[in-house]
Amino acid sequence: IRSELDNVERLSLVGQMAAGITHEIRNPMAVVRGFLQLMREKSPEDLHSYYHIVMEELDRANSIINDFLSLAQTRVSDKEPAGLQPIMEELTPLIWADANLRGQSVELKISPTMPLLQLNVREIKQLILNLARNGMEAMEAKGVLTLAACEHEDNVLLIITDTGGGMPQSQLKQLFTPFFTTKSQGTGLGLPLCLSIAERHNGTIRVESEVGSGTSVIVTFPVESREGTVQSPVYM
Ligand code: ADP
Ligand code: MG
Repeated sequence: IRSELDNVERLSLVGQMAAGITHEIRNPMAVVRGFLQLMREKSPEDLHSYYHIVMEELDRANSIINDFLSLAQTRVSDKEPAGLQPIMEELTPLIWADANLRGQSVELKISPTMPLLQLNVREIKQLILNLARNGMEAMEAKGVLTLAACEHEDNVLLIITDTGGGMPQSQLKQLFTPFFTTKSQGTGLGLPLCLSIAERHNGTIRVESEVGSGTSVIVTFPVESREGTVQSPVYM
C-alpha cells in the first residue's frame, strides 16, 4: 500500500510540475517572440540590446528544463561509499572562481576525519553547487561563503553559510515550493532539487536565516555504517 501511495503522490506531483514547467517555459518563449516581432520594425542599433534579452530568456528556459529533468528523475540513485571531503575539495576551485568574479571569498572548514557515507557523487556535487550558488547570489561583493563539514551524533553535517541579505520567515516557508524564486533569472527549482537529493540519501535540509546577516543551509546525512573513515590530506 505504501508504495502505491508513493506512486499516486508522485504522479500527482509530476502533473503539478508539468503544469508549472509549461507556464515557466511559456514566459521566456513569449518574451522571445515579442522581441523578434519588435526586431522586424526596429533599427540595427536597437537590435543589439534586444539580442541580450532574447539570449537571456532562452538561457533561462534552458536552465528550467535542465533543473526540471534533474528533479523529475525520481528513481533511487546508485550510491557508493564516499567521503564528503574529497567532493568538497574537488568543487572548491570551481566555486572559488565564481566567487572571485563577484569579489567574494570562500572559506573551507572541513573536519579532518569523517566517516564514509553512501553517496551518489554526481547528485551530491549538484547539491553543493546549487547551495553555494544561492549563497553567492545572496551576497554583495566582499561577502564570505563558508563550506563546512563535520560529524555530529551519527550524522555528517554539510553546512553552507553566506553573509548575504537573509530571508524573512514568510520567505523561508516557501523555499522548497517548486518555481518559487525572487530572482529575475531564477528557476525556483534549485532548492526543491536539493531537498529531493537529500531525501534520496535519507538526509534532511534545514535553513536558518536572519535578515541582514545571512543564511545557513544545513544538510544532514546519516552515517549508515562505520566501515571506514576518510582522512582529509589538506585541511587539518
Ligand atoms: P533560484 O535560485 O532559481 O531562485 P532556488 O530554489 O535555489 O531557486 O531558491 C529559491 C529562492 O530562495 C531564491 O530565489 C531566494 O529568494 C531564496 N534563497 C535561496 N537561498 C538563499 C540564500 N542563501 N539567501 C537568501 N535567499 C535565498
Ligand atoms: Mg538557486
